[in-house]
Amino acid sequence: MNKPGSPIDFRSLYDNFSASTTPVDCGLMCAPHNPNGKPFCCDICHAVPVAYKPEWDYLKINTKLWHIWQGDECLDDPCDPTELMEQTPEHLYLLTCKGPALCERDNRTTSCRQFPFFPYITSDHCFIGLACDWEFESKCWVLSHLDQVTDDYRKEFIQTYDELFSFWSEDFDNYAQLSEETREHYATIKQRIPILHRNGNTYLVSPKTERMRKIDFGCLKQHPPY
Ligand code: SF4
Ligand code: SF4
Repeated sequence: MNKPGSPIDFRSLYDNFSASTTPVDCGLMCAPHNPNGKPFCCDICHAVPVAYKPEWDYLKINTKLWHIWQGDECLDDPCDPTELMEQTPEHLYLLTCKGPALCERDNRTTSCRQFPFFPYITSDHCFIGLACDWEFESKCWVLSHLDQVTDDYRKEFIQTYDELFSFWSEDFDNYAQLSEETREHYATIKQRIPILHRNGNTYLVSPKTERMRKIDFGCLKQHPPY
């Protein structure tokens, strides 16, 4: 059941964004490298999921999987939630799930489904494809195996964000800001940005000129320990 008045039908959005990221269960590849034994993106000590406010309205009446993040869920490193809450855009809530052993695949948030990617927006405001969450390069196996990302996943990712951006310009603006920060990061480390383009090809993008060079996956850097 969707919230009356919400522009997005989250059940439909989830059903249309359910393709596996890779043919293998990538959680099996990264969990052995996490001392907590969980896939990194499902370990609240490493990543705090978010939901759009209307998405939380949908989830809270359709599943018991989630609760609003309190800051004390990572038992090894409880924290005051105020700082991260203040850094979180207005249209999002920080959430916590019951953990990977109790995951309900159908009730994963959009943020679970998008990880380890985010929509990349050029400086002239075009959503051209998927960029990598580079802060997870040493944790996420997928970021060292972009050749494994399925065409269906890439297609569903693009369709989902085309739909979300058609309703929420604020979300587009946040990803434009993140893309700008990403260009600054890659310029600082003097590397180009890998992009899984919406046209099906993969490119390295210059962080300064934004010039794109089509590449084979073999050109991409792998990140230890993968
Ligand atoms: S997306 Fe990355 S961090 Fe998450 S389970 Fe797969 S390999 Fe691990
Ligand atoms: S809902 Fe599932 S996929 Fe999302 S963080 Fe929790 S365990 Fe991971």
